[in-house]
Amino acid sequence: MVSRDRSKEIYEKYDKFTPGGIHSNIRYFAPHPIYFTKGSGARLWDVDGNEYIDCVINNAALILGHGDPKVTEAVKAQVESGLTCGVESELSYKVSQMIAEMVPCAECVRLSNSGTEAVMKAIMLARTYTGRDSIMKLEGGYDGWYDSAMVSYAPDPKKAGPRHAPKSIPEPVGGLLKDAMKHTLVMPFNDLHSSESLIKRYRRKLAAVIVEPIMFNVGCALPKDGYLKGLKEITEANDVPLIFDEVISGFRVAPGGAQEYYGVKPDLATFAKAIANGFPISAVAGREDILRMSAPGGKTGYGGVYNGSHVSLAAASATLQQLRDGKVQNYLNHTTEDLANGFKAIAEEVGVNARLQGLGGQFQVYFTDREVVDYRSAKSSNAAEFKTFQKAMLGQGFYFLPLPLTHHGISYSHKKAEIEAILSGMRTALTEVKSAS
Ligand code: PMP
Repeated sequence: MVSRDRSKEIYEKYDKFTPGGIHSNIRYFAPHPIYFTKGSGARLWDVDGNEYIDCVINNAALILGHGDPKVTEAVKAQVESGLTCGVESELSYKVSQMIAEMVPCAECVRLSNSGTEAVMKAIMLARTYTGRDSIMKLEGGYDGWYDSAMVSYAPDPKKAGPRHAPKSIPEPVGGLLKDAMKHTLVMPFNDLHSSESLIKRYRRKLAAVIVEPIMFNVGCALPKDGYLKGLKEITEANDVPLIFDEVISGFRVAPGGAQEYYGVKPDLATFAKAIANGFPISAVAGREDILRMSAPGGKTGYGGVYNGSHVSLAAASATLQQLRDGKVQNYLNHTTEDLANGFKAIAEEVGVNARLQGLGGQFQVYFTDREVVDYRSAKSSNAAEFKTFQKAMLGQGFYFLPLPLTHHGISYSHKKAEIEAILSGMRTALTEVKSAS
């Protein structure tokens, strides 16, 4: 039995003034969170001295691995310069230029700090451009902690109406503006027929259709052949801007994100996470005629003291330089495929109905015999079996989250030894699931 006594002690003191003892609720673990001291490459260490192979990788922000030497060196040099935030430098320009060169839709780029902020800004731009208020998002999609996006993120399918025309269900989170949420409509992922009829019906109200091109926020549902291309055609035909929320897929599945990988260019796209290997920075990129409206004196605005702050820019520059040639993304795509194949063979041998779906180093394990293609199919996988699996993984020293519908991942620092160790841990965990069934 692994000891986490020191984590428990910290939690008991910390919870008194920080509810839950954490600053983002996804970090909560019952009976208490785990507090970490160090990360290096593919590994994390907690305050009790336990070592983990990290399969959460900073919720997908880590693409190269903890403490990447080039990123660390660039950050240290930037700290020495004394520049922090609130001013522009040549580095701000260079990072924006790198993004514009890598991302197909990026005629223009503006920076902010978190994925949520980038999504808020993209939606503001789309509302200004179209003069309309509503947005259409995916049922089960997560596009940030923000009133307009917190609709049907995790609805009860029994209360959410038919699959082809889901009801918009405001998240039961206090403090969200109900009036804002009224302007958010939802559609299912991977269903062009339903999307077309919903977009056509609401076209005069819609400022944008926003989708995660690979639905990592249900774990990992990949777009079916032709889905993204079809969605682009439908939004174009109905004169509604298409936003790809590439906060996770960006720079990860290809240097230019999912839009490069699948060859479909949206009107706008949002990025965060992998840009700076864990340092906080995000971006809105897209059509010049839309982004120009946020220039000084334009129809909308753009602000933020910490936008393009220099430590994050230094980290972004050192990260993007390593992501430009596609070597990291190739490695992650092939290694994810190896992991999925290895998992399949083990699940068959052990006799458990389970599958590992993934791309670009992001994956999720589902206990189901059917492919997960959208929120409802993810939701119908066996959550109790996932929890048994997750507990067994964590107990063996693999950092896994107790959430059946979230994504896990590997970084460029997860080499052959770590992948073999993860597969071996998965064999033990699947055996536990089998004996519990
Ligand atoms: N969009 C997507 C697709 C995300 O996965 C997330 C974060 N999980 C966000 C937006 C919000 O990003 P942040 O947590 O940086 O605000």
